[in-house]
Amino acid sequence: MKESKVKAKSILRKRKKIDSWFISRYGMNLYRGCTHNCVYCDGRSEGYYVKGKFGKRVEVKVNAIELLKKEISKDKNFNNHFKQGFIMLGGGVGDSYQPVEKKYEITRKALELFNKHNCPIHILTKSTLVKRDLDLLKEINDKSKVIVSMSFSSLDDEASSIFEPGVPPPSERLELLSSFKKEDLNCGMFLLPVIPFVTDKPVFIENSIRKASELNLDFVIFGGMTLKDGKQKKYFMKVLKKYYPKVLVNYDNIYKGDKWGNATSEYYDSINNTFSLVSRKYGVDKRIPSKLFKDFLSENDLAIVILEHIDYLLKLKGKTSPYGFAAYSISKLDKPLSSIKYNLRNIKGVGKVTEQIIWEILDNGTCKYYERLLKG
Ligand code: SF4
Repeated sequence: MKESKVKAKSILRKRKKIDSWFISRYGMNLYRGCTHNCVYCDGRSEGYYVKGKFGKRVEVKVNAIELLKKEISKDKNFNNHFKQGFIMLGGGVGDSYQPVEKKYEITRKALELFNKHNCPIHILTKSTLVKRDLDLLKEINDKSKVIVSMSFSSLDDEASSIFEPGVPPPSERLELLSSFKKEDLNCGMFLLPVIPFVTDKPVFIENSIRKASELNLDFVIFGGMTLKDGKQKKYFMKVLKKYYPKVLVNYDNIYKGDKWGNATSEYYDSINNTFSLVSRKYGVDKRIPSKLFKDFLSENDLAIVILEHIDYLLKLKGKTSPYGFAAYSISKLDKPLSSIKYNLRNIKGVGKVTEQIIWEILDNGTCKYYERLLKG
């Protein structure tokens, strides 16, 4: 493994619109590249411009904390009451707790900084190194809130050893989530991506959800795999051919060169349907529930997130939904929803039912229809 020290030009990424998967506007990559080297990682694809051989080399942003301090001091939201959702550590093109973090502790220093600003934190990782920071995470959780999410392609240790060679096996990741739950931290499972014809079988999906339910995890977020033509697909297919040659032929039927690497909608519908049935059986929340975020969002962002969650949950059941479009229209508003409470129907995509839902969200921070869908 090669590491190189680089000076980044900026760290904090701010999204124009709240991300309703992670409940965040702010995110960052403290490292570039990832030696966890997951075979399906889309960080390998050309669009991310990660230098060198992906999985074998990582860039360490040695000026990250200094830059973060500057960026935070210029952003008034960090010094006022924080209403921008969670600061997201993870995802993107490098796990914040990959092995090099042991040496540089940049993620820990970032947590210390965000703790001073009382920011809620959401961590998504595949590494159990996160337990090193338990003391700090508990402190942040007491003051604001912390979510620790772990991602899995399944709970199968053998498949994981092939497709996620640089991370602890799923059994150890589960143990960590279990121990964090005992410490009263909020924890979730990202069952994402399930690997077509390898870990997408109903029995694999059910095992994961049953375990999440047994551990009382706060949510399970599910998703299929994308496979972009180019380096990502080439590498993935090479490994698949070696270990699962019989399923190779099936890939041509579902990955047909979509620009974003998406599989066919029929394939995604079939795995989503399995997830929908199994998650209902075990009563797990299929999105981050509102009790974990309603205190950290502006009223418009709260409405956007809940409407987008409803949109997802209806589509998961194979239904059509107007709520995604309504959420998009709200994201374009430049005034708080409460200031136009009796003119909501002037917003594109907001009809009578959506108006009622928004009123309920403004009054209670959530709505009953949403809460029912989340578990149903
Ligand atoms: S842990 Fe995440 S970022 Fe790292 S290689 Fe795996 S999928 Fe990619």
